[in-house]
Amino acid sequence: MADEHEHEHEEAGEAEAVEVPPERLERRRAALAEVRQFGDPVLKSRASEITEFGPELAEEAERMIALMHEAMGIGLAATQLGVMRRMLVFQAGPDAAPRALLNPELEWVSADLVTAEEGCLSLPDVIVDVERPLHARRIGVDVEGTPMRLEASGLEARVVQHELDHLDGVLILDRTPRKQRRAAMKALRHGTHFDPSMLERGAEEDEPSEDGAEAEPQRS
Ligand SMILES: [Zn+2]
Repeated sequence: MADEHEHEHEEAGEAEAVEVPPERLERRRAALAEVRQFGDPVLKSRASEITEFGPELAEEAERMIALMHEAMGIGLAATQLGVMRRMLVFQAGPDAAPRALLNPELEWVSADLVTAEEGCLSLPDVIVDVERPLHARRIGVDVEGTPMRLEASGLEARVVQHELDHLDGVLILDRTPRKQRRAAMKALRHGTHFDPSMLERGAEEDEPSEDGAEAEPQRS
């Protein structure tokens, strides 16, 4: 994992030219050490509904949000910490407030689909294209059990769908075109880097990402 940032910065080009201080990278590495990594069976398992609500859930949400920040991620699912409860946190952008959503369910998604590159804190050196609905409406509860309805678009809709997938044991590898999945799995086995630009654009590839293709995708 030591060289992952070099690769990320190479691939990100100008957009990510800002150097992250070594001390910050060290903190990120420490946080990632707490996140379950590819190959861990918890990442393929479905989390259970939360049925009892108490103050420990707010504490757990705070812990997850702090870890997400330390890992420089934009979302985190409880299963990524080995906690098999249906709880996720996200913060889609520096200006957004971090939020926790428990027992999330899909209420509605748009017919409009968008393909974009996604990274995952559990697959630190792999980026793949994932097609998802542009808009999504989720229902669930907050840490006190109060019902929440969440209408999101763009990156926020994407990150919440990514985290909900984690709660069902689904990874971005399961949602990417087969060719990318194969190449990404190979990179994971060899501990090397993969992103979609490394594949020749063949006939079986989906259309390229619509926007932000040059920028490093954020991880969750
Ligand atoms: Zn993830």
